[in-house]
Amino acid sequence: MPKPKRYPDNWQAIALSVKESALWRCAKCHQQCLRPSDNTKGLTKSERCALTLSVHHRNRIPEDNRPENLIALCTACHLSYHNRRQSNVSPGQLSLFPDDGIDWDIMAPSGESGRGN
Ligand SMILES: [Zn+2]
Ligand SMILES: [Zn+2]
Repeated sequence: MPKPKRYPDNWQAIALSVKESALWRCAKCHQQCLRPSDNTKGLTKSERCALTLSVHHRNRIPEDNRPENLIALCTACHLSYHNRRQSNVSPGQLSLFPDDGIDWDIMAPSGESGRGN
């Protein structure tokens, strides 16, 4: 499946470093999210989704990967940044933001896809 080419090739590495420097905690609510090394076998897909840290572009410009433009957010907080006016949004509705699709692409739990490192 072709992806929009708005994100740099090293986006995964950039996002990882943002999340690591945030100690895998949401910058807004400070929820401890899952690390790639965490065992998620006992979690449902929606639980994993809720505990997945995402990297958000403060200015909504995916090309702008300056550290000050990037912020690590849990799913709920990330969603609220994109959809402030709605309060009852479930992770299943994330696809409402196609413009930000690659933000969510990194939510795939590592190890599950079998694509290695
Ligand atoms: Zn949060
Ligand atoms: Zn975002």
